Amino acid sequence: MHAAVLEKATGTRILSLYLANKLSISLTELTPIRTDICPASCIAYTGCYENSDTCPYLLGNTLCGKSHYKPQATSSGKRKPYAQVMTLPIIPKIKALYANAETSTLLRQ
Ligand SMILES: [Zn+2]
Repeated sequence: MHAAVLEKATGTRILSLYLANKLSISLTELTPIRTDICPASCIAYTGCYENSDTCPYLLGNTLCGKSHYKPQATSSGKRKPYAQVMTLPIIPKIKALYANAETSTLLRQ
């Protein structure tokens, strides 16, 4: 509703959040990488843990054992993780820092 009012008042096309994200990704090459993690933040499900169904982390003698995936799969049948962390790849991040005059100057000091 706010976008419609803004669009009418300014005569400028207001993008949806989805389209704004898509545009920013295409302009910056900053595509977030989503990695499944234990809901208690013990481990990231990467490498040898990638296909684990439960968290193998041991704190003293206590096994975390929290489930990697939610009990119900998505409509496409894909299992949905309890938790994820988003990271940005380093090369596009450095490119973005050098593309900005102020941060580029700071990086070269
Ligand atoms: Zn855990």
